[in-house]
Amino acid sequence: MNTHLIDPYCRVIDYLRLSVTDRCDFRCHYCMSEDMQFLPKRELLTLEELDRLCSTFIDLGVKKLRITGGEPLVRRDIMTFFRAMSRHLEAGTLKELTLTTNGSQLSRFARDLYAVGVRRVNVSLDTLDADKFTEITRRGKLSQVLKGIDEALRVGMQVKLNAVALKGFNEDELPQLTRWCAKHGTTLTWIEVMPMGDIGNEQRLGQYWSLDDVRRVYESDYVVTDLQERSGGPARYVRLEETGQKIGFITPLSHNFCESCNRVRLTCTGQLYMCLGQEDQTDLRTPLRNYPDTNAPLRAAIVAAIDRKPKGHDFDYSRQRVDGRVSRHMSHTGG
Ligand code: SAM
Ligand code: SF4
Repeated sequence: MNTHLIDPYCRVIDYLRLSVTDRCDFRCHYCMSEDMQFLPKRELLTLEELDRLCSTFIDLGVKKLRITGGEPLVRRDIMTFFRAMSRHLEAGTLKELTLTTNGSQLSRFARDLYAVGVRRVNVSLDTLDADKFTEITRRGKLSQVLKGIDEALRVGMQVKLNAVALKGFNEDELPQLTRWCAKHGTTLTWIEVMPMGDIGNEQRLGQYWSLDDVRRVYESDYVVTDLQERSGGPARYVRLEETGQKIGFITPLSHNFCESCNRVRLTCTGQLYMCLGQEDQTDLRTPLRNYPDTNAPLRAAIVAAIDRKPKGHDFDYSRQRVDGRVSRHMSHTGG
């Protein structure tokens, strides 16, 4: 077994999240500004380069690959890339190929994704109200996303719903979102809004809804049992005893999850971020492009980067100030 990627704190890094594009057909308020400037196309890695990079990570021991963005399904010819990755699933070297999507294109792609081995998909959906949906995404259509989810479920995929917890926005929809997920057999995971990018932090602070508070809302209606299930990431799960359904909480701001971190993030331009909450990164595009005939420099760069993976992040909302804010957008690092 290849396990070349062990960081200085003895964490095995076997999970890569790859952003395949910074572009998106939505402009969610907490993620992008209305006039978001996207990267020139030439900056982006080609699909062949993404393949070479991911294959090198897999060779070094990565077992789980999550494709994200931007919106991964708006990248041109993205199925070519998924199809290429499926060879690692067939070989058994890659255990899981998944994606995080806004769902807008899912009705078109679900069947093909399933065919190449994608069995689970995370769909981001913050509201079930069509008008509010268009408001928060600045242009999305709820019906299109619901159609995508239906199709994913129909072809046999497991769907998880991710909702960003926003005070004054979807607070009142907690019961409805919870019931909707129970009915569709999907896990609902709440995400605490993070101080990313340069988009109106004051406004975002106003929208911060602590997941401790979200949990308290559940506790007023249900018996809530903590589950031991861990994914190596920031998600923690509970079971609502009355319905048996699972609810997830991603709380990077209020709880420390770093000691079990098993992941790194790669941008669509080939920058490797060892921690979501830190600026340190390694440029993998240079060894990739400068050495088209050998992967040795690329491997060396990856191993050296993992050796620099920090112990943890330092987001801090506690003084109502965004300390530890990182300037890049979630759509850049892929969330
Ligand atoms: N476009 C895809 C989507 O929306 O699922 C994939 C990329 S998106 C950047 C990945 C996740 O990041 C989404 O679930 C989104 O809600 C979340 N996200 C974006 N900005 C965020 C922020 N400031 N705080 C917390 N979550 C955020
Ligand atoms: Fe696009 Fe996802 Fe960001 Fe929304 S959260 S703007 S869907 S990348």
